[in-house]
Amino acid sequence: GAPIRLEGVVKKYRGTTKPAVKKLDLEIDAGDIVAFVGPSGCGKTTTLKMINRLIEPTEGKVFIGDRDVTNEDPDKLRQSVGYVIQSGGLFPHWSVRKNIGAIPRVLGWDKKKIADRTDYLLDLVGLDAAAFADRLPKDMSGGQQQRVGVARALAADPPVLLMDEPFSAVDPITRVRLQDSLIAIQHEVAKTIVIVTHDFEEATKLGDKVLIFSEGGQIEQYATPEEILAN
Ligand code: ADP
Ligand code: ADP
Repeated sequence: GAPIRLEGVVKKYRGTTKPAVKKLDLEIDAGDIVAFVGPSGCGKTTTLKMINRLIEPTEGKVFIGDRDVTNEDPDKLRQSVGYVIQSGGLFPHWSVRKNIGAIPRVLGWDKKKIADRTDYLLDLVGLDAAAFADRLPKDMSGGQQQRVGVARALAADPPVLLMDEPFSAVDPITRVRLQDSLIAIQHEVAKTIVIVTHDFEEATKLGDKVLIFSEGGQIEQYATPEEILAN
């Protein structure tokens, strides 16, 4: 994984008076899972999206490793920052194999390499490649689609994985299974992972560190789960 650093980051949405993120300085260590928690509307998603420039910061700089990504081409940037959303975000008319291969194809990988990588990733997320590679998303459960979403985000071996409420759309039992497999995946691939959640228990379970946001993208607390639970 690579460290992530935000310096004086501000986001003011057009037509709003109060900034969604006021002035944020944040360092995330390489290889950590950091969980963003806090009340709805406090700027978690906005902050996450500014890391891969799905949202442009109004002010400030974002670094991934020692790259200042503020002026990078956003489409290029997104090829090296995995992104997972609530519902998996798979292309509905594409098979699992085609979904996972989307970014590698853009990057010009050869077919054999993409096929091998797809098999490896399906195994990593706990899906049998023979059974699932040629399925369409609609023929899979929510939990299975979410696993494919994680596999797709990891396809080009990005140093950073961003996840926005990735497990909130699945039932509680599946959620626990997906959380456990994320911890196992992290153990194997050692990415820097940022996960947005509204679930404090999920944050303390998954996070090496938990960042509690308050209104306006302000840091209320940024510490290990043990330190946070001790207060
Ligand atoms: P969270 O993820 O913590 O729920 P968000 O980052 O989604 O919070 O939102 C932070 C603030 O920015 C909220 O007040 C929200 O209403 C506002 N906001 C989010 N997206 C937009 C947008 N596209 N235009 C205007 N305001 C927005
Ligand atoms: P997991 O968390 O292991 O991915 P889920 O708990 O989401 O799995 O689903 C449990 C089982 O139900 C799956 O192994 C799958 O075989 C089956 N299943 C659920 N929905 C569907 C569906 N729409 N199509 C095919 N199989 C399904």
